[in-house]
Amino acid sequence: MDNREYRYQFVAGNLALDFVNTVAFRADPGKKKDHLQHAEDVHRWASQAQLPDWGAINSGRLVGTASLRRIRAIREQLFAVFRAVAADDPIPADTLAQVGDALHDCSAKRCLSIEGAEVRWAWRPGARRTDYLLYPVLTAATDLLTSVSCSLVRQCEDAGCGWLFLDRSNARSRRWCSMADCGNRNKARKHYRREAGLI
Ligand SMILES: [Zn+2]
Repeated sequence: MDNREYRYQFVAGNLALDFVNTVAFRADPGKKKDHLQHAEDVHRWASQAQLPDWGAINSGRLVGTASLRRIRAIREQLFAVFRAVAADDPIPADTLAQVGDALHDCSAKRCLSIEGAEVRWAWRPGARRTDYLLYPVLTAATDLLTSVSCSLVRQCEDAGCGWLFLDRSNARSRRWCSMADCGNRNKARKHYRREAGLI
């Protein structure tokens, strides 16, 4: 598929997990595809995610290579942390500390401002578009990590998918990132294997 036509998915139930899910088929080296490869991708994700500052993120020129690298590096840190959470593995402490530091860096660039009669959070001079993008993502990540909902993080059971999501189903039985995608594909595969006498 032409990457320009890619529509980002927001099926995880948490912005940080949706951000991590910008890599498709993480667990399948043959099909793995990073949908935040180019600066344009970052801008499209920001607007499709409707980030609070997406207009500012998308104003002016494209984000630079160093910003893109930083955005992707933090995404991979978040993946490492949440994958461990989903698998009940020990959370990598160094990576968790990096996530906390990254949020701290973004937060340090915010300040309270008065607009008319309202007090609002604003960005200090010197804040960058990377901060505008990462702040809501990292806030969603750390809010989730420190909440009881953290126990609801799951990884899609599809062999290659690797996407993460929150299982908010009543029976806590959500197995797939998306029923329309991995769920149906695996149901069809199981049906075929049963018909073929393989199971
Ligand atoms: Zn999946």
